[in-house]
Amino acid sequence: MGAIRTSGSREHQVVVVGGGFGGLQAVSNLRRAPVEITLVDRRNFHLFQPLTYQVATGALSPGEIAYPLRAIFKRDRNVRVLLAEVADFDLDARELHLRSVSAVPSPERLGYDTLIVAGGSHYSYFGHEEWRMHAAEVKSLESALAVRSRLLAAFEAAEGEPNAEARDAWLTFVVVGAGPTGVEMAGQIAELARDTLRRDFRTIDPRRARILLVEAADRVLTSFPPSLSAKAERSLQRLGVTVLTGRTVIGIDAAGVTLEGRDENEERIASRAVVWAAGVTASGLAGKLAELTGAERDSAGRITVEADLTLPGHPEVFALGDMVRVRDPGGEPVALPGVAPVAMQQGRYAAGVVRARLRGREYGAFRYRDKGNLATIGRAAAVADIKGVRLSGFLAWATWLLVHLWYLIGFQNRLLVLIRWSFSFATHGRGARLITGASTNSEQR
Ligand SMILES: Cc1cc2nc3c(=O)[nH]c(=O)nc-3n(C[C@H](O)[C@H](O)[C@H](O)COP(=O)(O)OP(=O)(O)OC[C@H]3O[C@@H](n4cnc5c(N)ncnc54)[C@H](O)[C@@H]3O)c2cc1C
Repeated sequence: MGAIRTSGSREHQVVVVGGGFGGLQAVSNLRRAPVEITLVDRRNFHLFQPLTYQVATGALSPGEIAYPLRAIFKRDRNVRVLLAEVADFDLDARELHLRSVSAVPSPERLGYDTLIVAGGSHYSYFGHEEWRMHAAEVKSLESALAVRSRLLAAFEAAEGEPNAEARDAWLTFVVVGAGPTGVEMAGQIAELARDTLRRDFRTIDPRRARILLVEAADRVLTSFPPSLSAKAERSLQRLGVTVLTGRTVIGIDAAGVTLEGRDENEERIASRAVVWAAGVTASGLAGKLAELTGAERDSAGRITVEADLTLPGHPEVFALGDMVRVRDPGGEPVALPGVAPVAMQQGRYAAGVVRARLRGREYGAFRYRDKGNLATIGRAAAVADIKGVRLSGFLAWATWLLVHLWYLIGFQNRLLVLIRWSFSFATHGRGARLITGASTNSEQR
């Protein structure tokens, strides 16, 4: 079967892989250009990953942080959305090889004039894939829902557990990795235990739950200045989180976690609910593109792209977002932070290059504009480092709230999340505390 192109069209064909933060910006900034765009994603929705941890802790429902890709581009006649997984690339033939998703038939191949790949990243378990089944992460909606079920099921199991030691294990929650996601997760679990659930059980007191945040470095939030790390740690302690820095996880199984300290002493923690928030690795698409072009990859699997985000020897192929490192104008690879603003700016930049080329104009190298760093810890507690201005407490939290509402896709989602947050703030409640799916106990025992 030949490669599919938009029928009868002589417009320039742009294929964008990935409807995440980078891909979405690329499409949005090309839709008024004289091009035909096909957006390929293996999901039919854009996921606002910065809030998946709130789904994992019952504060928000899945539909409030995800938005259908078709709905985003419904008014743009030159944008086609294709539900399919990209399996491979034929860069010489300028074609993608596709696989069908959810039994929805898709073309086997898809041709392009310009290709923009923004496949993102996923959590890595430092070579210990076997840990994944005991320590779920919150990158996808499905895994966030699995975490939600595990956390809530742990309280249920503790309620029915007569043995004190076993009960303590159910009520010990371990979060691995004290980056922004780990800090946010630990803070939310603490609020769930100390606040939301405090009157819901009869034999246990959820406020007695232990929430441990484990980090190999010597402080939490290492991407922030040390003074803000210290403030974040104090806020976590106020919430009842025990911060264990300088500890490396060396084992995770169904019954708990084994840690190793700087002194090489091992420590065993009995826990039935472990959340993984450490280490990410680039999408497998980066590896495929590196093999085909000979481009370098770093230890996190990121492919090195040129200063204009294109692949070496393939000016018609852009790669961006979490899956890349970018060469600076001096030729040195630079690993930018794996955050949404980097991917969004790169998506907009790639669209700008395509538009300029169509007009026969030059376009400068990509430059990242760092707008700052934000992390929330709990109710009215957050830290922010915005262009050297360091905020903490309520002001940082209000900034975090506004920024997240602003970037959430869809007016309806913004309104729903605002209402949910206001309601939760006033009542200390969490409306989505549901145990769903067949995941929990059979996996844990
Ligand atoms: C839990 C969590 C919290 C975070 N919090 C923050 C935060 O507070 N602030 C912040 O700035 N950043 C945050 N980030 C990071 C931010 O989400 C990423 O940096 C950003 O999503 C990267 O954008 P991207 O376009 O590169 O990839 P993504 O947004 O991950 O998009 C990749 C897309 O590609 C699709 N895809 C992948 N492979 C294929 C394939 N083979 N075929 C078809 N489609 C494919 C995926 O389905 C997905 O839609 C967080 C990340 C996580 C996981």
